[in-house]
Amino acid sequence: MRALIIGRFQPFHKGHLYMVSEITNGFDELIVGIGGAQYSHTFENPFTAGERIFMIARALQHFVDTRGVKLYITPIEDVNRNSIWVSHIESMVPPFDMIYTNNPLSKRLFEEKGYQVRSMPLYNRELYSGTRIRELMVNEGEWKQLVPKEVVEVIEEVCGVKRLKEIVMDDK
Ligand code: ATP
Ligand code: MG
Repeated sequence: MRALIIGRFQPFHKGHLYMVSEITNGFDELIVGIGGAQYSHTFENPFTAGERIFMIARALQHFVDTRGVKLYITPIEDVNRNSIWVSHIESMVPPFDMIYTNNPLSKRLFEEKGYQVRSMPLYNRELYSGTRIRELMVNEGEWKQLVPKEVVEVIEEVCGVKRLKEIVMDDK
């Protein structure tokens, strides 16, 4: 059985990791769709699709090694047209049996196409939120414990915090 999750993962954090951990208890194949794949170098979307693939592949490798999970990571560009969103995703990812989403619009669009949709309780959302983590990065707060250690390594490798601070300065 193959499940699909979609997010922007800017960056991939421990809330996302919790979600993957729960899903891979029931599914042996997981597709991670990286939404907004064309965006990078903004406060909302600082990391490229390639950098996000790198973060997620490294952070999830232990599920592959220890649980034998098959993992597919696919960038998905936004199309900004809700009526074709599901077909667009279908054209980009392997076939899937279940989609996990908490977003009501996304839930509706997939259900209209006949998919089974599940939602997942958010894990410590007051701590684990992409927006909050990016704000901490800009303001020199403690962000590293909020993301898997492999994600810290990738962000350091691409000088992600420096990039984010410069992007925010440009906007002022
Ligand atoms: P941003 O603040 O940038 O929107 P985010 O934390 O909401 O970041 P997304 O990439 O937008 O992260 O989220 C993708 C999906 O991950 C969401 O649809 C949500 O269901 C799930 N998710 C986000 N945070 C958590 C969390 N703390 N626990 C479990 N799932 C989460
Ligand atoms: Mg979000």
